[in-house]
Amino acid sequence: MSEVTIRIERPANRVARIVLARADKRNAQNPRMLYELDRALSDAAADPDIHVIILAADGPDFSSGHDLSEPFKLPCAPVATMEGAFDGPGIEGHFAFECEAFLGLCRRWRELPKPTIAQVQGRVIAGGLMLMWPMDLIVASDDAVFSDPVIAFGSNGIEWFAHAFELGTRRAKELLFTGSSITAGEAHRAGMVNRVVAPGRLEQETLELAERIALRPSLALKLAKMSVNRSQDAQGFQLAIDNAFALHSLAHAANLSEHGGIIDPAGIDIVRKDARNGKEVSTSPEP
Ligand code: ZN
Repeated sequence: MSEVTIRIERPANRVARIVLARADKRNAQNPRMLYELDRALSDAAADPDIHVIILAADGPDFSSGHDLSEPFKLPCAPVATMEGAFDGPGIEGHFAFECEAFLGLCRRWRELPKPTIAQVQGRVIAGGLMLMWPMDLIVASDDAVFSDPVIAFGSNGIEWFAHAFELGTRRAKELLFTGSSITAGEAHRAGMVNRVVAPGRLEQETLELAERIALRPSLALKLAKMSVNRSQDAQGFQLAIDNAFALHSLAHAANLSEHGGIIDPAGIDIVRKDARNGKEVSTSPEP
């Protein structure tokens, strides 16, 4: 109906702040939130008065991942792909949805022609990484923790598979294989996070960083961003993302054939057991 999923603010000259506003769901992403976020990012990109975009989140956690309590259905026309098979049978429809709403949107957001900064607190679980990693810079409060526990659910990892680029290969493998979290400090040492700040300073420090960047000319900012992104692409980034997404889709097809759904339901017990043992806590909404 008319659920509010995001809020748009103008906290300083030339700076837009888009806030995930599903705090009661720990900012789990339903399709409506993804597309309202996309609209807000597109509008900020088109506004010549905006030089820098902050992506923040209400509540204690930045995002608990995909909202599995809602159907994976597009809330509007596709914007990122030419996909049309959304109602296709079995894996065909789901593959079209993920190409568009997960892989396609992340790719679009990474290429926004303005600097973007993720302002992150609390837990960032699985699909939550998909909102954060396509942003250019990440400022984290020191209570932030990051995890992708989806191997337990029969998948290789989230759809935007940037783990090895973000964390390095060894740390990426441990994060995936064990499902455990890394702290903001560990993420900073791995180069995944630009700055770690006290929780009470998160908003202010992120805004100060945005204001400093926003003083600079927008064309040069855009060209610098494009230059760095293409440098990463030259290292195989896009090919790696596409390859992992194909394997991710294979995992969904295997789960569908074996378990009748796109994830292995045994994952819930594995994650709960980890939580009982103090290993890890997942706030992901359960299917
Ligand atoms: Zn998926």
